[in-house]
Amino acid sequence: MANKPEKFIDENGLRLDGRAVDEIRPMTIEIGVLSRADGSCYLEWGKNKILAAVYGPRELHPRRMQKPDEAIVRYRYNMAAFSVEDRARPGPSRRSIEISKVSRDAFAPIIMTKYYPSAVIDVFAEVLQADAGTRTAAINAASIALADAGIPMKGLISACAVGKVDGQLVLDLNKDEDNYGNADLPIAMTQDGEVSLLQMDGNLTKEEFKKALEMAKEGCRQILEMQKEALKKKFASHEEVVESLVEVEDVKLEEIQGEIEIIEEDIEACDFEDEDGIEVIVVKTEEPEPTEEISEDEFTEFTDNEDSEIEETEDSESEEEKVGEKYEQ
Ligand code: ADP
Repeated sequence: MANKPEKFIDENGLRLDGRAVDEIRPMTIEIGVLSRADGSCYLEWGKNKILAAVYGPRELHPRRMQKPDEAIVRYRYNMAAFSVEDRARPGPSRRSIEISKVSRDAFAPIIMTKYYPSAVIDVFAEVLQADAGTRTAAINAASIALADAGIPMKGLISACAVGKVDGQLVLDLNKDEDNYGNADLPIAMTQDGEVSLLQMDGNLTKEEFKKALEMAKEGCRQILEMQKEALKKKFASHEEVVESLVEVEDVKLEEIQGEIEIIEEDIEACDFEDEDGIEVIVVKTEEPEPTEEISEDEFTEFTDNEDSEIEETEDSESEEEKVGEKYEQ
């Protein structure tokens, strides 16, 4: 491990890697890098290198783990053995189990799990190279991979950390700042500003905490722009369709699905806001099931049966009433 630097911020207010205190590290995003995953993303953030893959929605086995009214989301954060200076021990650790849990929860406000009862959505975040902020980097990559997989979401999740070094708050800690700093506050939030992950290591005063939260939110806002830009670039040929969707009036979520289905031949990705300001991202919608044609005879048979069922119900009800009357007497 490198020795503790004497100073983290120089006389010009710049950090050891040349950044200002409120500046995030450069980020590059590549979408759809894995052909076998339903959605994937490779993200570099400073020296962090993360690969995220999404599988599903698919039927969950064993069935006893299924939820009948919604899909479950599983998230696995893993550090490759070669991702850190000293070899990281392969397999789950206390740290990776905790990060997996809080990261999964970070996506709870946006993933529309109700659309996929009994299904599972699997998210894998593999840290190939670590340099502080890997949980937030993994969340940023997973968010894009989920969109790439076509998982209906109310928006994206963006994440970054704020810390404290030399008594000053700094956005997006690098390795030395993380190792030797006085605090580390990773947060994730929806694009409406709802915080869905907040952890804290170290000490901050109340005022510092408030300021740190504001700085982290600003960082997330910048990351959101990069995430959106990357998605738009990947699905650029569908821009016209995206624009036309902005015109849709009085959009309810159920109706949005309908709208997408109508134009599903032309659209792979869209990103638009409904009247309530909820940004909806739907990517690669599934082919709708062809509706079975019913012959006229079958239709009559069906409606006849339905009538007779109603009559039966009415009869049984009146029987119950009679029994009730008898009982009261
Ligand atoms: P995050 O990566 O989200 O900031 P931590 O604060 O726990 O999470 O870790 C900070 C950094 O410490 C990591 O990014 C990584 O560079 C390093 N690190 C974490 N776990 C290990 C480990 N088992 N071995 C070596 N270095 C590690």
